[in-house]
Amino acid sequence: TQPADCPPDVEDLGRATWTFLHTTAAYYPEKPTPTQRSSMLGLLKALPNLYPCGWCASHLKENMAIHPPDKVVDDRLSLSKWLCERHNDVNERLGKPIFDCSKTDERWKDGPKDGSCDQARL
Ligand code: FAD
Repeated sequence: TQPADCPPDVEDLGRATWTFLHTTAAYYPEKPTPTQRSSMLGLLKALPNLYPCGWCASHLKENMAIHPPDKVVDDRLSLSKWLCERHNDVNERLGKPIFDCSKTDERWKDGPKDGSCDQARL
């Protein structure tokens, strides 16, 4: 682990990006407006072009060509599930544990039932 004020490495950037994406998906509306829908689609489609880790971006581009996001921006649960699956595709490639996508809300929005994260809600 490097000092906190160093520029991010691939792992720091990845954790921060996944935190932003999963949390934004967790709070995405059940019924988004056309503007919210197109904004989310624009955000997702920008990632393979702008993500500042070249090989990550190139893998993501291939993955998103197979799993396009166009329909999943129609509702919160579809979007959260799609992102979980894309993250799991990276996890699998890197040999990391596969995340149980039924636990996405617990991890990124509601916290565990024992209340141990209650002070951390947005
Ligand atoms: P992370 O994988 O960053 O996960 C953070 C937390 O998210 C975990 O602690 C867990 O609680 C939760 N989580 C894990 N899986 C899921 C899931 N499926 N759904 C919801 N929550 C989950 N690194 C590379 O070395 N090569 C790459 O090609 C690469 N591509 C990437 C592509 C993208 C779009 C992004 C955002 C990151 C990429 N990374 C890549 C970084 C990599 O995914 C990890 O972020 C990094 O290795 C740090 O891993 P971590 O074990 O700390 O947890």
